[in-house]
Amino acid sequence: MAKRGYQGTILRLLGARDHLATVVSTELRAPHFLRIVFASDSLLGTIDTGPASWLRFWFPDPSGRNIEHQRAYTIVESDSETGEFAIDFVLHEPAVPPSHWASNAHIGDSIALTSLSSTTFELPEALPAGYLLAGDAASTPALAAIVTTIPAPIPIELYLEEHDALDRQIPFPKHPNMNVHWVTRTSASALAEAIETRNWDGWRAWACLEMGSLRALRPRLKHDFAFAKADRFVQAYWRLDGAMGRERSSANED
Ligand SMILES: Cc1cc2nc3c(=O)[nH]c(=O)nc-3n(C[C@H](O)[C@H](O)[C@H](O)COP(=O)(O)OP(=O)(O)OC[C@H]3O[C@@H](n4cnc5c(N)ncnc54)[C@H](O)[C@@H]3O)c2cc1C
Repeated sequence: MAKRGYQGTILRLLGARDHLATVVSTELRAPHFLRIVFASDSLLGTIDTGPASWLRFWFPDPSGRNIEHQRAYTIVESDSETGEFAIDFVLHEPAVPPSHWASNAHIGDSIALTSLSSTTFELPEALPAGYLLAGDAASTPALAAIVTTIPAPIPIELYLEEHDALDRQIPFPKHPNMNVHWVTRTSASALAEAIETRNWDGWRAWACLEMGSLRALRPRLKHDFAFAKADRFVQAYWRLDGAMGRERSSANED
């Protein structure tokens, strides 16, 4: 059992507990986009696996220090009968904890994970006039589940921020009423500025981006497009200028 630091103690007090997941298969779905199917005999009965739900993995330190790094990843498929679930990893440089672990993962390898404060995308009872969605490769797994959930007649305007030319090779589901806009990340405000200034009355917004891009988008959604708080969901998924996640000791307790 891993010794927990202060953050681990807080998570445990909040009711989080570790589960163990074992690699069942791996599949490269684009040159930098790897799907790993895991099995866990304790996880799936205890969590909501709805669209865009996510888990906190504890990745070993790539340089071998006795530290584990917590990073969030989205559940893309799950089967409570078998205990199997899939995660899509964007492999990026520098190959920091998740990229390093996932690129070297073999069938039978195992990893610890925690589930706490995950949110799930839910359609409201009264359907909105449309959805404005924004994301990048890291939120593709969540966006794919969301697009699949949105009924065919509801229009979608999807803005995707390109950080790497390979991002366009990531498989993505079709929707009969969706316009896709790719925006190259020339600056933190490129995506926010690319979104059409128009009447978004009755629409909902969901945006999960790199922290700087999200910072630029927030005032657009709130002030320029007048999305009410209840009609917009935003979350930073990663940071261009540093790590986003906690650490804990992985030293043995005794
Ligand atoms: C709720 C939630 C769900 C998420 N789901 C997924 C998912 O399903 N699949 C997925 O791939 N990611 C997902 N992410 C993003 C993922 O957690 C981050 O990319 C992760 O923190 C990267 O950790 P790292 O150790 O690789 O890099 P860090 O140690 O956090 O950062 C080191 C450097 O790596 C670079 N970096 C980090 N992330 C990326 C990236 N995505 N692209 C390019 N460069 C990057 C940055 O330049 C950073 O300075 C999710 C994040 C959240 C919050």
